[in-house]
Amino acid sequence: MPLPVELTIRLHWVQVPLWEPFRISNGEIRVKDAILVEVQAGGTTGWGEASPLAGSAYSTETPQSTWDFLRDHLIPAFIEQPELDPLRCLDRLSELPGEPFARAGLEGALWDLHAQRVGVPLWSLLGGSNRPVESGAAVGLFTEVSDLLSRVEKFLNQGYRRIKIKIAPGQDLELIRALRQRFGNIPLMVDANAAYRLEDAKLFEEMDEYGLMMIEQPLAGEALAEHAELQRKLRTPICLDESADSLESIQSILRQGSGRILNIKVQRMGGLWPARQAHDLAWAAGIPCWLGTMPELGIASVQGLHLATLPNFTLPSDVQASERWFVEDIISPPISITPDGFLSLSDEPGTGCRVEIERVERYRIRFEELRR
Ligand SMILES: [Mg+2]
Repeated sequence: MPLPVELTIRLHWVQVPLWEPFRISNGEIRVKDAILVEVQAGGTTGWGEASPLAGSAYSTETPQSTWDFLRDHLIPAFIEQPELDPLRCLDRLSELPGEPFARAGLEGALWDLHAQRVGVPLWSLLGGSNRPVESGAAVGLFTEVSDLLSRVEKFLNQGYRRIKIKIAPGQDLELIRALRQRFGNIPLMVDANAAYRLEDAKLFEEMDEYGLMMIEQPLAGEALAEHAELQRKLRTPICLDESADSLESIQSILRQGSGRILNIKVQRMGGLWPARQAHDLAWAAGIPCWLGTMPELGIASVQGLHLATLPNFTLPSDVQASERWFVEDIISPPISITPDGFLSLSDEPGTGCRVEIERVERYRIRFEELRR
């Protein structure tokens, strides 16, 4: 496809209010930061989202570092020698290593643009299908068990198809026991966010009795051999999340048998296509996947859902309804789940959702425009 003469890229750093504070180890987040990448070419606009959490909760990237990299390096390099085909662009930009979140932002915009220009839905370009995706609810740590139970009850009533709770040393078996006692055999999993050590194996052997769908990232990110050793002791599958941060590390996980499930995150992989490659590696090895989140705003969440229709994403996604997190999402229609807990996509070209620019402007704290 010929390159349009006019090319405009706008970066919008937004802070969208959350319904309730999100508690992480080093503090509390009340707004969701994201850097939206708007690529306008030949009368068509594609949107992407680079979505690191403030306080570098899950990664070393911060909204500031992602903003700086996009504005000072990635976008200027792209403008200098534009390539609107997402795959060829990824190739070209591989000369600027690092910063997966920033890359995911530009790459997402190019996929959206490309899908619209060729007139097909994004899922079809990514090799997926228009099938509904199961949604699972993720619940944080609560000081009171009763608060956890009432939160889980609310999500079950809303239709979510599995419950994931966070665990930490001292807050683990007791929570699982309480949930099993109250809600019986619901689809339940736990996420340890790398908080344990191999010496805690006995605790996980006890956990094995509760019929969990999986135990997510019990040990440190780099502890692949230890994960393999722990997995050999357990019937419950281990799911790798923090460890699965690149194609190379996923290859090591598969080689060493560090787990039986993978949580694939588009932002961490540096875009939809690298995430698809991760899916393909796992598929070839017979390891099922699910699509994790940071969580992102609507733009990146919907793009992730298009990817999550690929055949080896067989477990419920962490993508939840927009209203679960945000007072107001920046897309229309917002993400919603059916009464039985599914997320669905449209057959329209592109992503099938519209970015509401007046909301973007309302929540925007920085803006930059680059033209060619
Ligand atoms: Mg996790």
